Amino acid sequence: MAPTPLRRAVAVILLTAFLAPAACKSAGPDPIFAGPESSSTPTASPSPSPSASPSPSVQPSPAGFKTLQWYLDRVPEFPAAPAPQRVKLTESASAMWLSRVPTTNKVAFITIDDGALSRKPEVIEFIRQAKIPVTMFLNSPAATKYTPYFKAIQEAGGMVENHTITHTSLKGKSYEFQKKEICGSADKLAQLFGRRPTLFRPPFGNKDATTLKAAHDCGAQAAFFWTQTVDKGIVRYQTAQKVVKPGDVLLMHFRPALMDDLLGALNAIHKSGLTPALLEDYVG
Ligand SMILES: [Zn+2]
Repeated sequence: MAPTPLRRAVAVILLTAFLAPAACKSAGPDPIFAGPESSSTPTASPSPSPSASPSPSVQPSPAGFKTLQWYLDRVPEFPAAPAPQRVKLTESASAMWLSRVPTTNKVAFITIDDGALSRKPEVIEFIRQAKIPVTMFLNSPAATKYTPYFKAIQEAGGMVENHTITHTSLKGKSYEFQKKEICGSADKLAQLFGRRPTLFRPPFGNKDATTLKAAHDCGAQAAFFWTQTVDKGIVRYQTAQKVVKPGDVLLMHFRPALMDDLLGALNAIHKSGLTPALLEDYVG
């Protein structure tokens, strides 16, 4: 029997689904940057997978390569973002530690960490054209080495925040050590991007009271953990409810599958009845 267009489409989709994990595996995890940040959450739920829900009008190319347009065509339509409610920060000698933004607005936040491992050019256009609000927690050496790339995302509306110099776990280290990692990176990011970071994310989410003191002394108003992680397009939730709640903060990384991660996050936020918003409009 000759393959019908539908059968052909299914074959392409299956091929895409088969090839995607293999491609990610061959790229390999970065030994420094692939830490507990992506594996500390207990429950996993596949977000609506782009390759599992083809629209009849757009098919992946025969090679299984998903173009920028393929991603743009799958961005859900969001209701307009509500007016931001700024978080009231109490005067303190330490940065506030937050896993999520205390807000009742129906919004969630997308954050992208690190910067050394992978920087796909199409990510810039995806963020620009789909108007995805993103906050980048960058390590300053990666930001220094690839400044034009991150500047392009900044020009597309993204914000640059602080993720230390060497991506070392700070917990238990001396104040001097932590301050050098945090202030050193903040100084460099300010010089490169024309704005001193006001938010901080400790590598691996590991922190202690000294971290929050040092972050404050380096200009950070808040330090962030996260509520969901996204990797290879799959959203991993902290709770069994598998829903993104108002104020939640999704964590992903500059990894080869960032396009899928961004689309997975957008789909999960949309499915939860929320709209993506810019973290700095609420805090920092
Ligand atoms: Zn990191």
